[in-house]
Order: sequence, then C-alpha cells, then structure tokens
Amino acid sequence: MVRDVINWSKYFSIDPQKIEAVKKKFGAEKIFAMGLMPVRGPIGFRKLDYDFAEKELNVKEIMDKLEECHFNILGLVIKDTDGACIWDTKAGWNPTNRDILGEFCDAAQERNMGLIVSFTSMNDAYQGAIHPERVSVHGREVKHSGKIYKIGEISTHEEGEMRVDLPPGVSLEVYKEKIPFLTDKRDEKIGKSRGARGKGYIPLTSFMCPNSEHVDYLLDLAREVVKNYPIKGFFADYIRYDGDFTDLCACSRCVSAFREKYGEKPKILSSKEWLDFREDTIADYARKLHDVIKKENADCISGWFCLPGPKKLFTRKRIAQDWVKLSSILDVCSPMEYPYLMGTRDDGWYWGKVGDFSFWYFVRNMKKRAREIKSPALAVVNSVECNTPEMFRQVRAFDFGLGIAVFKYFGTKEEQWKALKKYAEEVYGVDALKIK
Ligand SMILES: [Zn+2]
Repeated sequence: MVRDVINWSKYFSIDPQKIEAVKKKFGAEKIFAMGLMPVRGPIGFRKLDYDFAEKELNVKEIMDKLEECHFNILGLVIKDTDGACIWDTKAGWNPTNRDILGEFCDAAQERNMGLIVSFTSMNDAYQGAIHPERVSVHGREVKHSGKIYKIGEISTHEEGEMRVDLPPGVSLEVYKEKIPFLTDKRDEKIGKSRGARGKGYIPLTSFMCPNSEHVDYLLDLAREVVKNYPIKGFFADYIRYDGDFTDLCACSRCVSAFREKYGEKPKILSSKEWLDFREDTIADYARKLHDVIKKENADCISGWFCLPGPKKLFTRKRIAQDWVKLSSILDVCSPMEYPYLMGTRDDGWYWGKVGDFSFWYFVRNMKKRAREIKSPALAVVNSVECNTPEMFRQVRAFDFGLGIAVFKYFGTKEEQWKALKKYAEEVYGVDALKIK
C-alpha cells in the first residue's frame, strides 16, 4: 500500500500559500474528482455518440453514484475534441439539444458538490469543417494516416480515437448534415492491441490555428460558460498544437506575426525563435482565457491540462506547451498521468509489463520536470482500460498534495467504484472531502 506513495514536496517548489488559496476556493481539504465525457457513449472513449448524450445520459444517476463514493468534484467535459458545446449556447454548436452543463450544475448544488469544466481549445473538428481557413497549416510535406500533405495545406486529418455509429434508421448522408466532419470510411474491426480504434465511421479532426479568429470564438464560449453557470473551475484542454506533427502552424497569419517579432533572419519551423514563438502563442491564449474567466468570476479557478513527456522533443517541438509560462498564468496545472493506457495486465503478461514500464516513466518524468510547474497541481489518472491495482498505483503515486482526479466515469468497473469509495473513506476521510 505504501510502496508507491511519493513525497512530491521534494520535487515541486510551489508557494504553500498558493496551495492553501486553491484549497480554500475549492472549499475542501482534499479534491476527489471524477471526469465525465458526455459525448463519448456509455463505455470507453472510442465513440462519438450524440444520441446517447441526448437521450440516455442520466444526470441524477451519475451524481448519485459520485455522491455515494464521496467524490466532491465532477470534472465535466463540456467541449470535447469534436467541438460540441453541451450547454445553452448562443456562440457555439450544441448537437445534443440539451443543457447538460446546466443539469449537472443543478444536481451538484443539490448535493453540495463542485464542478470543474474541461474545455477543449485548439482541437475542434466542427470548427475545422465550417472554418477551414482557421485550421493550422503545414510548413513542410508530411505523410499522415496514408495521406501526403503538401506545404500550405491545412492539417485536417482522420480522428485517431473516436468512431461513429449511425443511430437506428438514419442514413450516412443525413447524419453527415448533423456531423459535417464525418467521412464514409469505416473501421470494421476492434483491434486487440493498445491504441486500437473503436468500430464505426471515421470522423475527421482539426487543430485550429492559435493565431486565428478561433481564439476569439473560444473566448466568447468561455465568457458564456463562466458568466452563466456556477462552476468552481474552468480548465483548458488541448491548449497546444497537434502533437502528430512538428510543422504547424505555418499559415500566413503565423508567419507574418513571427516575422514582425523576430525579423527576416530566423528560420520558420527550425529556429529556436520559431519554437519560442509557438510557445508564446499558446501562452498568449492562456493569458486571454485567464483574464476572461477572472473578469466574469474572480473566484472561478483557471486551469490547464498538461501532457507529460520529454521536454525538448515533445513538449517544445511538437505541442509547444511551456510548463513554466502556462503555470505562471493559470491557477492550477493538471498533468494527465495515464501510464496504463499504454497497456494493462488484463490484456496479458506482455501488456502488463508495458503498462508498468510506462508507469515508471511517468513517475520519473514528473520528478524530473516538477520544478517547471509554478502553480498547485492536480493530476488526472485513469480508471478505464486498466484494472483496480493499476488504478490505485496511479491514484497513490500522483497525489501532488491537492488530491486526485480520476478519469473517467463511463467505463469504470463496479469493483473499481467500490475500491474508490473505500479509498476515500480510509485514506482521505469523509470529513476532508466535505465542501464547506
Ligand atoms: Zn497559423
């Protein structure tokens, strides 16, 4: 039990007053959060299913379950990578015909629970379909999912994770009117290995240019949400470039902004200045988002989801998430610690070893990089696609002091729910989880 508990205070260098201030805003001694993705169907996260969100998603049942297991925060994905906005929105696109965020806010208030919303930022399949001129642009010729992309071409590509089933009695042509980023290509089989996709029609996805009007669109959405809903936190996900590539975004907006700042000499794509420029572009968005959140509600905690990985090759070259800059702007950093998504013992000995190795790497990476995080940190660990001991290895190892967030509601097995409840009672104590 004690084996994986790590004394993180040795690795982080965060002002304890900042941690206390965040705890005070959350209202509880420890955060015990569960994530929920309403548009991904009732099992894992390999589906995109608006029919489920519209007709079957049962808010009361979900909140009863969370309350029973002592969760004090629901982490609700109000905008996923597809781009759907599941609240009562004027600025955005809501294909669920429901104010899901509003329903959860009411249910949370009845139960004295808090809500953090997760807001996918640059990845937006729907906006990519209706605003191709805002999609990030390739700076060199690259190959991706069997297609060659030329210089100057937009980076819209096949979605890696989600697949779509047609609702009963609905044809592909009709469904394409609702989901304009749907293709007629299908994955027929669910693969055995990790990273295998779900079954069904393949949608396209896009990472938008962070120097385009997409940012104004995102800020309008954020304003709407923070203004109209009593949420405790607003966390930006996909606050970054598309990690599949190293040549984004080379659109004329980005190139001229870069030239204006650095002159004609530094090279596009390969210079140090270009990498700085991309990181600053993402940090600029963070600053604007933080200001919008605080202007609407000074008590709402701003946050961002951080992808662990090698600093130079991944964080800087691919996704351009500068941990120091982003955590100096936004209130809470949320590292996504999902080692067992790489493999679980449930798929056999080999995949168990892959998962354990990945766990070791995630711990080592965080020890090495913790000092880059200047704000309190709340890790998200996964409960789906791993077993109960693997889940607890992560829950114990990645509590950086604030508590833990578990991902995600649908797909967590009954045995895991029971164990999570017991963990809350025995390790945190029910009193520490009460929102005061
Ligand atoms: Zn651009």
